[in-house]
Amino acid sequence: MERKRLLSGMQPTGTGALHLGNLEGALRNWVRLQDQYEMYCCIVDWHALTTRFADTQGLADASRQVAIDYIAAGLDPSKCAIFLQSHVKEHAELHLLLSMITPLGWLERVPTFKEKRENLGLNEEQVSYGLLGYPVLQAADILAYRAHVVPVGRDQAAHLELTREIARRFNRLYGEVFPEPQALISDETAVVPGLDGRKMSKSYDNAIFLADDADTVARKINSAFTTPTKIRRTDPGVPESCVVCQLRRIYDPEGYRVSWEEDRRGERGCVQNKRELIEILNAALEPIRARRRELLADRQGLERILTQGAERARAAAADTLAVVRATMGLR
Ligand code: ADP
Repeated sequence: MERKRLLSGMQPTGTGALHLGNLEGALRNWVRLQDQYEMYCCIVDWHALTTRFADTQGLADASRQVAIDYIAAGLDPSKCAIFLQSHVKEHAELHLLLSMITPLGWLERVPTFKEKRENLGLNEEQVSYGLLGYPVLQAADILAYRAHVVPVGRDQAAHLELTREIARRFNRLYGEVFPEPQALISDETAVVPGLDGRKMSKSYDNAIFLADDADTVARKINSAFTTPTKIRRTDPGVPESCVVCQLRRIYDPEGYRVSWEEDRRGERGCVQNKRELIEILNAALEPIRARRRELLADRQGLERILTQGAERARAAAADTLAVVRATMGLR
């Protein structure tokens, strides 16, 4: 039986370095899924241009950084195609064709369009045609593979709705080409808190990165927020409001309960909590760091992986585009 197709992707923002939130909220799940699905794992570098078109210096390196973190986290290039969006031009052709059938009103109503505009404080000249069209490009990324499923975070199921609407509209206008992709929402993934207690995010300067060495992890954990009312070692802690305890639960799912109970009874201090978490985290991250070192030492090998990934992706996307052109009457 043929396996169903899955498309997943991340943007190479900033340096491209991925953090524990990306690992626990997305990558670990993708690693499980690569055995069940025919998987296309995209680094969406064109998407990064929708807001950062003026500063493209580090973009190529940031995309490689994402690829290194993908593989170091366990994505296997022999199982899934790992590639850059900009290496597979079929995404652009499909984006163009889908842009013709997507009503402007649909795009203007997308909440993330308004949010980005406001949160990033973009002025009129910074709100580009490409930014408005972001969801159409996203639809093209998914539909180019006629993907059946897209793994999404719990809060992101709505992001897929526009892709589904565009697919339905295309199918109605020209004939059944695209399956309506389903959101694959994982129950197992936790929201990882950042060092300051907010959601871990590269925009908040509160993240622990897969690329951080053991000393950096120790320094960051030592600066993390703990129970605000626990001043002395013997004060009772509230593990639910302590970043160190929350991270321990994620990285020590068997053993965390004992430490949480001791914390609640005021039988352990934050220093001990931090020291133990640093050990647990560094042990969990070491295999990832080891794979990162290997990948960093063989940059040509990485380029080969990306080239082969793009070839596999292109073969699948080219098939779709041939069907799309014919269905639309383009010869
Ligand atoms: P960032 O907030 O750092 O920009 P992205 O929005 O690029 O992260 O997220 C990429 C993926 O990682 C998404 O699937 C998202 O759900 C997941 N993710 C990001 N931050 C977290 C977090 N703190 N906890 C769980 N998952 C997260």
